[in-house]
Amino acid sequence: MGPAELTPGGRHAVPAPLRCSRIKGVDMADTFEVLASALESMAAQGRLQRGEDAADDYRADESLTVAAQVPAAVAIPHSTQEVSQILALCASAGIPVTGRGAGTGLSGAAVPGEDALVVSFEAMNAILEIDTDNHVAVVQPGIRLNELDEALAARQLVYPVYPGEYSASLGGNVNTNAGGMRAVKYGVTRHHVLGLEVVLAGGQVIRTGGKFVKSSSGYDLTQLVVGSEGTLGLVTEITLRLQPRLPHQATILAPFATLPEVTAAVPRILDSGVAPLILEYIDLMTMAGTKAYTGLELGIPAEIEASAFAYLVVMLESTHEDRLDADTEALAVHLAELGAMDVYVLPPAAAEDLIRAREQAFWVSKANDADDVVDVVVPAPVYRSSWSVSQECLRSTGRS
Ligand SMILES: Cc1cc2nc3c(=O)[nH]c(=O)nc-3n(C[C@H](O)[C@H](O)[C@H](O)COP(=O)(O)OP(=O)(O)OC[C@H]3O[C@@H](n4cnc5c(N)ncnc54)[C@H](O)[C@@H]3O)c2cc1C
Repeated sequence: MGPAELTPGGRHAVPAPLRCSRIKGVDMADTFEVLASALESMAAQGRLQRGEDAADDYRADESLTVAAQVPAAVAIPHSTQEVSQILALCASAGIPVTGRGAGTGLSGAAVPGEDALVVSFEAMNAILEIDTDNHVAVVQPGIRLNELDEALAARQLVYPVYPGEYSASLGGNVNTNAGGMRAVKYGVTRHHVLGLEVVLAGGQVIRTGGKFVKSSSGYDLTQLVVGSEGTLGLVTEITLRLQPRLPHQATILAPFATLPEVTAAVPRILDSGVAPLILEYIDLMTMAGTKAYTGLELGIPAEIEASAFAYLVVMLESTHEDRLDADTEALAVHLAELGAMDVYVLPPAAAEDLIRAREQAFWVSKANDADDVVDVVVPAPVYRSSWSVSQECLRSTGRS
C-alpha cells in the first residue's frame, strides 16, 4: 500500500480523503505546480485545473450541512493508468485526494479539503460490456444511473438499485453503498456488485471479484470497498449483476387513519409473498409538502385526505399481466383487511409521478429550509415508538 494512511469514513460524517504522509519541503501552495509538471498532457488538455479556476460544482455536493470548499486542484482522468499515475504522484508528494462522481451525495463525502486534489470521474463514463448471457454489465465509474438504465432497457435487462437521484454515478453508488426504494425487493448496491478495479493510494491497481456469482474463498475485498466512500482507493471499473426487466407494473396507494394500523400492515404485506418492488410509507406532512412542491394530483377524495394519518405505496411487478392483475387484486383486498381507509390502483402516469415526487422529497425539504436531511434506519417492530420519539423532538423544538 505504500505510505498511505487509511482513514475510515462514516455515512454521515465527512470521511477524510485518501491522505498520504507529506514530504518535507512540499508547500501545498505548490500542489498544482507539482501535479502539472508531472501530468503535462492532462494539464495541456485542460484536464488538470487549479482549484479556483475549476467549476464551482467541484466544491460541494448536495449536503445541507457541509460548507463548500475550493480544492487545490481538479483532475479529470481518462483511464485507469492516469488514475494510477495521479495517485502515485499524490502519495509521494503528500497530497490528499478526494474522489468525485456526480456530486449528488447528501453527506458532504465528495467535498474536498482545501489542500486536496479532486479526481472527477465524469470522463470515465463508458459502458464497457453488457453480457446478456450472464446478466452482467462492466462499466466505468462515471456512468450515470439513467444512462445505464437506458442502455439496459433496450436489452430487457435492469440494474435494479435505484436511489432517488438518477443523475448519480455508479462510482458514487458503489462508494456510498446506495440504497433507494427498491431495496425492499432487491437490496442495496453491495448486493449487485460482483467485482471492481480499484487504484490504491500508492497507485497500485488491483482487481477484485469478477463476472461470476459464486466466490466463496478468501477475503471479500469487493465488499470491503463497497461503501468505503473513497477512503480505500479510487474505483475505476465496476462489474454489476443485472436482472431481467419485468415488463408489467402496478402501483397501489392506501391511506391509513392511524399509526398502529399502517405500521402493522407492513410486515403482513411482506408475509403475503407478493414481493413488492416498492413498499413506501409516506406521512401526511411529506405528502402535503410533495403535492405542494410538485403539483402532484392523485384524485384522492377530500374527506379521505383530511382524515388520513399516512399512506402506503406498494408497487408490484410481474412477467405476465394476468399474474400482476391477480396479485394486485389480492393485495388490495389484503390492505382493506389491514385497515386501509380505501385502496387506489393508480394509473401508470400518476404512479410514475408519485414515485418521482417521493424520490424528490429531499428538494421539498431543502426548499422549506430544512437544517439537514438524515437517513434513520430502525427495525420495523420499533417503528411506532421511534415515530413517537421523533414527534416528541419536533414538539420540543416547536416544529410540529
Ligand atoms: C434527491 C436525492 C435523492 C437521493 N436518494 C437517495 C436514496 O434513496 N438512497 C441513497 O443511498 N442515496 C440517495 N441520494 C444520495 C446520492 O444520490 C447517493 O449517495 C449517490 O450514490 C452518490 O453518487 P454520486 O455519483 O453523486 O457520488 P458523489 O456524491 O460524487 O460521491 C459520493 C462518495 O463516493 C466517492 N466516490 C465517487 N466516485 C468514486 C470513485 N470512482 N472511486 C472512489 N470513490 C468515489 C466520493 O469521494 C464520495 O465519498 C439522494 C440524493 C439526492 C440529491
